[in-house]
Amino acid sequence: APIDTDEAEPFPRRRTVAVDVGGVLVGGDAPVVVQSMTNTDTADADATVAQVAALARAGSEIVRITVDRDEAARAVPHIRDRLARLGVDVPLVGDFHYIGHKLLADHPACAEALAKYRINPGNVGFKDKKDRQFVAIVETAIRFDKTVRIGVNWGSLDQELLTRLMDENSASARPVSARAVMREAIIRSALLSAELAEETGLARERIILSAKVSNVQDLIAVYRDLSRRTDHALHLGLTEAGMGTKGVVASSAAMGILLQEGIGDTIRVSLTPEPGGDRTREVQVGQELLQTMGFRQFVPVVAACPGCGRTTSTVFQELAERIEGDLRRNMPVWRTRYPGVETLKVAVMGCIVNGPGESKHADIGISLPGTGETPAAPIFVDGKKVATLRGPNIAEDFEAMVQNYIERRFGV
Ligand code: SF4
Repeated sequence: APIDTDEAEPFPRRRTVAVDVGGVLVGGDAPVVVQSMTNTDTADADATVAQVAALARAGSEIVRITVDRDEAARAVPHIRDRLARLGVDVPLVGDFHYIGHKLLADHPACAEALAKYRINPGNVGFKDKKDRQFVAIVETAIRFDKTVRIGVNWGSLDQELLTRLMDENSASARPVSARAVMREAIIRSALLSAELAEETGLARERIILSAKVSNVQDLIAVYRDLSRRTDHALHLGLTEAGMGTKGVVASSAAMGILLQEGIGDTIRVSLTPEPGGDRTREVQVGQELLQTMGFRQFVPVVAACPGCGRTTSTVFQELAERIEGDLRRNMPVWRTRYPGVETLKVAVMGCIVNGPGESKHADIGISLPGTGETPAAPIFVDGKKVATLRGPNIAEDFEAMVQNYIERRFGV
């Protein structure tokens, strides 16, 4: 049969309204944006400035901070100023629950310092206060020309809406499952809130929607449906994804499928960090997800083989780790010094079986000797063998060659 010459491509991106978040575009033609959230007490400005700066330097393009009380709201403008003095100009999003309307009204400097307000329609207020308090936040956003994310979360879903839909379902001739009603309630909450925000006068270009759940299949179903029913920009995230490998896999599986279908304009990977663990990991996972799917390029790729019985040495794994660590650490500076360096591909391979082949596909690659092979490591640059390294300093020599390659190819 003839080879099908079609390219392997994801579905086209769903067309959404482009939204400005403090100078970062979300939706429209903009690339999918990676964002994150701090876990510091916002009232502790020192800790929050340090964590926002670390997240931004790791590549978070938007950072959300919780604004839960007066002390936190008072700290926000100082956090903004101190970040600016450090040269960190990442847009800040305020996460508001229960009393957001009051905090924004009482602290106009906070309202001004933030680029976006996140409102959860499930806990913005109850009964007759609900719409009034929601509208108050939207009016503040209009006054300060800010963006709003209407962020529905099934852990804090609008109970009145859910009860109404459950009752309607019970009375229906063809009732659906409670889980399907829950999904509909999440979507309906986001869409009805967006309608109310627009009726209040907020432009579509100022609204982002999210509808987070913690189950992978539900998340996929909710966002597929939501994206069919609106062209608002969508923020993707699996809420309470969990710790360690489970969180990474669950988030990647859910968001990977949606992104492949062209759904999602900004992502957050919500990982529960180990106690004292590194918060920037969620940024790294978000970047890796987009990069591995071919949507964006953030850092050079280091291809390394998994190793097997043909090499009992761990030299190549250590070298791959060292090179990847160096590249990631240097990226904040190299992005400006070596434009395009994020497209670099380095290969670090463990033996002759796939070593030379994979190295030839990389910009620069090394094939280390496997067990029993001649202790020599051929180096390939732009597909051609250019040198063979020997002796105890192979790792340092190869690192120097990578650095030279970067300077030669990307230096301005
Ligand atoms: Fe094993 Fe060699 Fe393949 Fe690495 S390149 S996985 S060492 S056979």
